[in-house]
Amino acid sequence: MAKRRSLPSGFPLVKIILLSFIIISSFFLPSFSQTANLVQVKVEDKVDLSRVIIMANIPLEVFFNKFGSILEVRIKSEHPLRFRSSPIHSRLVRSLGWASTKQGNLLVIDCSLSDFQYESSIRRQPFQVEIKLKPASQEEKIILAKKSPDLKGDEKILSQAEAIGSSFKSIDPIEKATHKDDLSLPAAARRVKTIVLDPGHGGLETGAKGPRGTLEKDVNLAISLKLKEIIERRLALRVVLTRDQDIDISLENRAAVANNNRADLFISIHANGAFRPKARGSETYFLSLRASDEEARRLAYLENNSPEFEKKIEEESQDQIMMILWDMAQSAFLKQSSQLAEFIQTELNNLLETANRGVKQAPFKVLTGVACPAVLVEVAFISNPEEEEKLRDENFQWSVAQAIYQGIINYLRKLS
Ligand SMILES: [Zn+2]
Repeated sequence: MAKRRSLPSGFPLVKIILLSFIIISSFFLPSFSQTANLVQVKVEDKVDLSRVIIMANIPLEVFFNKFGSILEVRIKSEHPLRFRSSPIHSRLVRSLGWASTKQGNLLVIDCSLSDFQYESSIRRQPFQVEIKLKPASQEEKIILAKKSPDLKGDEKILSQAEAIGSSFKSIDPIEKATHKDDLSLPAAARRVKTIVLDPGHGGLETGAKGPRGTLEKDVNLAISLKLKEIIERRLALRVVLTRDQDIDISLENRAAVANNNRADLFISIHANGAFRPKARGSETYFLSLRASDEEARRLAYLENNSPEFEKKIEEESQDQIMMILWDMAQSAFLKQSSQLAEFIQTELNNLLETANRGVKQAPFKVLTGVACPAVLVEVAFISNPEEEEKLRDENFQWSVAQAIYQGIINYLRKLS
């Protein structure tokens, strides 16, 4: 009884302490946001190039993505950031934009040329990123030279004081993307509304393993999440992942996710494994019951049967019948699947600068049940120490995501 009475009498005191804590902390909150680390950006024009310089008093992680005339700089930091830049007087840099969301910070550099090259370098103390932007061709060099004749080459450098002066224009956050690439697509491409991405393996099923212990399932997920982000920002499309965490999903359920979501494209993302440590490069597959070569057959076997989930022989023969039935569902899309595979493979070849390992056909079970154009991408060989190193690198993962994205866009552009 005594216990029961002491609780309500003690309650107001707790309430007062809590309230005063909230009031006091609310005084501190605005100052907290003001003390967010300042990132200064300035743009300098030189004779035949422009420099974008990002300065901060804390180290930042930066990743680059180029889309046509736009260079996106993704900036990762454990601390909140605020941005400042000077007014821009540049021939090459038209505008700077800034978005901050829960996924991170994004600096968008919009260039006045339809194509350009960039080079970046990082200095640690104090932290500074320098990005050099140049015209991509002689033709564009001439176009650029004709712009703003009042510019006096090297002398036209904005002072530090100017750079700190004005604040940034804030752009649409990632959620409200501009979907710029939609504009370049033919009417037929508008039928494509949902893309399902399938990060291979997951949970107990780790997939292939690199010599340093990198697990394929982690790489597959990291690339898929980045690809989802790029597609959603550039196109007004829905992207569904068969898994967005490290969990087990059966191959049948992956196809079910695609079909339940009325997928218009299905892309399964994997990293390759080989006994030969020197094997390298990308491969893109579309479905066929007959493998295009012995290696493709072996790979399909490995992807279809993971050691953790050994199947009984009776089950396997049941699988064969299922596969033939499902293969008929996928066969309606064979031509489109092979075209999508071709476009993605071309971009990955450019990225990895490898001899074309090519588009191949193999009986991948995950593709069989999908009722839309479907491909399986083996990004690189996790079994190759050099390629494993790349696959671990977040910057490389962004490049892969961007290459696959470019493949999708090229496919969509050819639709009629
Ligand atoms: Zn795999």
